[in-house]
Formats: sequence, structure tokens, C-alpha cells
Amino acid sequence: MNKDKCCVEGCSNPIKVQTKQLCEMHYTRLRRHGNVHITYKPRRKIRTCAVKNCDLDIKSLGLCHRHYYAYKTSSPDYRKHLDQIVLKTKVIG
Ligand SMILES: [Zn+2]
Ligand SMILES: [Zn+2]
Repeated sequence: MNKDKCCVEGCSNPIKVQTKQLCEMHYTRLRRHGNVHITYKPRRKIRTCAVKNCDLDIKSLGLCHRHYYAYKTSSPDYRKHLDQIVLKTKVIG
């Protein structure tokens, strides 16, 4: 029995935290995610404004602060216009 290696299968890093029998990497993972098997996925959801050619971050309703403000303060016609854009390009949840 090898007692000085991380208890996670397939991991041969030396144990960092004796009480958990985990290496530093897996212990960090456990603390951070509550699970040693979760890896950080750089799966970045790009959430930008639904308006075409606008790549600002979304504030609300799939719109950036600028377009959201425009939406909130706009005439019904402009709202309709934005509604169509938003519905076409993004699913609002
Ligand atoms: Zn490990
Ligand atoms: Zn925008």
C-alpha cells in the first residue's frame, strides 16, 4: 500500500493534506467545488448584448445597459424592434 500518494484514482501526486489523503490539487478542488473530480472548465459562456454588432455585457433581458436603457425608455415601436432582435438571436431565460 502506498500511503504517500493522493487517494484519487489515477493521481500520483504526493499527499499534501494527510487527513484527506489528497494532493494539493485535489484538496484545492475539493475545497473549491466540493468534489475532487470536478475540473475547472474554461467553458466561457459568452453573454453579450443581443443587439447585432453590440458586444457589451448583458445587463438585463439579454441587452446591455445601453440597449436595456434604450428599451426601458423607448417608444413602443423601438421596443417592438428590440423584441424582435432579442427573440431572433437569443433565448431569454
Ligand atoms: Zn490528487
Ligand atoms: Zn447593446
